[in-house]
Amino acid sequence: MLRRLILYFSTAMWARRIVTGWGVARRVARRFVAGETLDEAVSAAKVLNTRKLAVTLDYLGESVHAAEDTVEVVSTYCAMLDRIAAEKLSASVSLKLTHLGLDIAEDLCVTNLRQILTRAQERGVKVTIDMENTPYTDTTLRIYRTMRDEYGFDNVGTVIQAYLRRSEADLRELGAEGAHIRLCKGAYLEAADLAFPLKADVDANYARLTAQYLQTPGYLCIATHDEAMIQAAESAIKSTGAAQARYEFQMLYGIRSARQDELATAGYLVRVYVPFGAAWYPYFMRRLAERPANLWFFARGFFSR
Ligand SMILES: Cc1cc2nc3c(=O)[nH]c(=O)nc-3n(C[C@H](O)[C@H](O)[C@H](O)COP(=O)(O)OP(=O)(O)OC[C@H]3O[C@@H](n4cnc5c(N)ncnc54)[C@H](O)[C@@H]3O)c2cc1C
Repeated sequence: MLRRLILYFSTAMWARRIVTGWGVARRVARRFVAGETLDEAVSAAKVLNTRKLAVTLDYLGESVHAAEDTVEVVSTYCAMLDRIAAEKLSASVSLKLTHLGLDIAEDLCVTNLRQILTRAQERGVKVTIDMENTPYTDTTLRIYRTMRDEYGFDNVGTVIQAYLRRSEADLRELGAEGAHIRLCKGAYLEAADLAFPLKADVDANYARLTAQYLQTPGYLCIATHDEAMIQAAESAIKSTGAAQARYEFQMLYGIRSARQDELATAGYLVRVYVPFGAAWYPYFMRRLAERPANLWFFARGFFSR
């Protein structure tokens, strides 16, 4: 119930205006966001790299409604790719299609994406297309397939959400194609006919899909902080004999940092998703929704101002 309410607030403009106006919200958001500038994100990436953690940098933003606003998004991604190469960071990048103008016109979004992917290919950096809510699932998969055919299977990946009922069928096809897939549980508000409403069903699906995908020619990014999912993945890795070059673990910046280090020390490739930028509100609210206990952290900060 609380999760659904917070997810509703994450898309409400009036709530965004109120929350982003609070200095305390900005301070609390810093737990999950590396900063507002590319310099701050690069500094965070360097620290993570020295801990033997790879990163994926994400310039925060989504649902852009003016074509001219996407120009700055593309140039920030290109600058990011240049910095990754110049500073020899162990980093990929992640992006959202609605940040590149998908709500305005698919052509605009694809033109923007091609500019970023061309620069990424020149710099030798991989790109993952994040998955947004269900109105975008089909389009995202279609654009992903077109781009990976143009730029290469190892250079472009996308995301599948275990809470969606359709995901098993999607992954069957993507696995046969050898796709680079990040498997996460899913972070948006969805109707029960599209997504499993119960956490137990989402978890069971996540563990099942992990084991199934590890047996395909595809590459799997196991993106979760859930200890039960991590352990299920470790036993599926053992039982399927999946080669280490076929999978990695991924977690979000600021969540279970000690566990990130443990997995890296155990010899796994671990990648931390590092978001930055001024448009932190929807991302931050989705993190609150995943763990309403984080609201106490927020409330404590608010009352101790
Ligand atoms: C690298 C990465 C990329 C992602 N990309 C996408 C994407 O493209 N599209 C999409 O829909 N979703 C994405 N997500 C978010 C994902 O869908 C989940 O919403 C999120 O990861 C929480 O699910 P969980 O697997 O960690 O399990 P949960 O069952 O939500 O959490 C398990 C445990 O993890 C810890 N935990 C989880 N979340 C938090 C938090 N916010 N604060 C503190 N502790 C927490 C808690 O201990 C919790 O009990 C991504 C997640 C990761 C890790």
